[in-house]
Amino acid sequence: MTVHTHQLTLKEIHEFKGKYPRQIWSLFFSEMWERFSFYGMRGMLVFFMISQLNLHEKDANLQYGATQAFVYAFTFIGGLFADKILGFRKSLFWGGLMMITGSSLLAADPHNFFFTGLAFIIIGTGFFKPNISTMVGELYSEKDDRRDAGFSLFYAGINLGAFLGGYICVAIGKGYMLSGMIPENMRWNVAFGLAAIGMVVSLINFYFTQRHLGPIGLQPGHPDALVQVKAKPKWVEYLVYAGTLFAIPLIDLMVSSPEYTDYFMYTIGPLALLYLFYEMSKTTISERKKLWAGLIFIFFSVLFWGIYEQSGGSLSIFAAKNLNDNLLGFTMDPNGVNNSAGAFFIIGLAPLFGLMWIWMAKRKFEPNTIIKFGLGFIFLGLGYYVLFATKFFASVQGIAPLDIFTTALLVITIGELCLSPIGLSIMTKLSPARMQGIMMGMWFLASAYGQYVAGIIGAGLADADENAPAVTRLMNYTEGYKMLGIYALIAGLVLIALSPWIKKLMQDVR
Ligand code: GLN
Repeated sequence: MTVHTHQLTLKEIHEFKGKYPRQIWSLFFSEMWERFSFYGMRGMLVFFMISQLNLHEKDANLQYGATQAFVYAFTFIGGLFADKILGFRKSLFWGGLMMITGSSLLAADPHNFFFTGLAFIIIGTGFFKPNISTMVGELYSEKDDRRDAGFSLFYAGINLGAFLGGYICVAIGKGYMLSGMIPENMRWNVAFGLAAIGMVVSLINFYFTQRHLGPIGLQPGHPDALVQVKAKPKWVEYLVYAGTLFAIPLIDLMVSSPEYTDYFMYTIGPLALLYLFYEMSKTTISERKKLWAGLIFIFFSVLFWGIYEQSGGSLSIFAAKNLNDNLLGFTMDPNGVNNSAGAFFIIGLAPLFGLMWIWMAKRKFEPNTIIKFGLGFIFLGLGYYVLFATKFFASVQGIAPLDIFTTALLVITIGELCLSPIGLSIMTKLSPARMQGIMMGMWFLASAYGQYVAGIIGAGLADADENAPAVTRLMNYTEGYKMLGIYALIAGLVLIALSPWIKKLMQDVR
């Protein structure tokens, strides 16, 4: 691979005019296509397991949760190896290749290669996902207050991919799209194949645009790299590649039996934290304080995703059983709305949020990160309160209006935009250059725990009799959502109350 590095210096990249650095588009499109592939695959999982692998609904859900937890847990490892050995660009490529292999296996024979394909995708996402986000942060100088706006735009790319992939792949698999062109027994192959193609497009885009990134993402030890260290011998890099391949059968085994997920989740978090503490012991006091602040944000994000991620689990059951199919006068599948409305709102709102942050920063009243996080929780709480309120509009049979449900999703999405892109941004602000990857990995590892907690909360909500009448279910679920709403509000207020202390830890970072 030829990497042209000397055209642009970091200073030239940082001194961009206008609202966004132009390199952001390279990262935007690569991440968009990666998410197309990822959410395309993820959107097919539960349905495929139930209809093709004949799993029970409950097992399919557990399996889905395990896959999600594993995917995000491996980001810590991907971030770590990027910082130490590969650099962000090579990690991204290696991860992308693994994801292409995984989706191609699924495309070739989804029934037989199901778990092996997933294992490749899990480890591949680990190498890809945190490291592309870190590179967005490197486009900005330390004091640049356009950074949150950049991450908001990048987040729109994430969701554009999520929206298209999430809709198209499963629709092809189920025969809702292109059914005339694809023989029935090939539908799932084509659908998984499309996810593979998305990933190929992502890598091609990155390959041809990376030369604009100057020194960003180069391997540690490269003469132009941002962190100057002694180059490691080549075999260390090859060892990482070999280690990845050796790990695949192990991941395959763990993900195919969800009981391992618990053990895995009990171990990976504490181990990651221990390692991080070890790394923190080698930093200066000022750096360490910032990293502690980062850990507080990470801790709160577990709570956020635990509540937020009801969407894949309990909310999809709620949508299937307790909602009508009328959205603003149009007939719509409530599950389709539940799966895609969030991404749809984000595509429209994220760039506006970005411009709003820039506008506020110019007038010196942009809220700092702690307040944005607090607002994230408050909107999340309000959104869950609207979910609770669906019961006041329900029919006597216990069927609530899709319109109100969708309004709740809108409010929740506003919360997401105050927290998720801002979280990516703050990780890059609070970490010293040599620990960017690890901290971004930690941020996503928190998502893994969020997914895991979400599954436990969702299972708790679903505990009531599966065959209970819709009215009883409506009461149970909405009561649960009210509690989640209250927890979110409390978390938001606690965060804001802690803000003077967190601010001290963050020092000059805002
Ligand atoms: N939806 C976002 C993404 O896919 C955030 C995921 C997360 O952190 N849980 O990147």
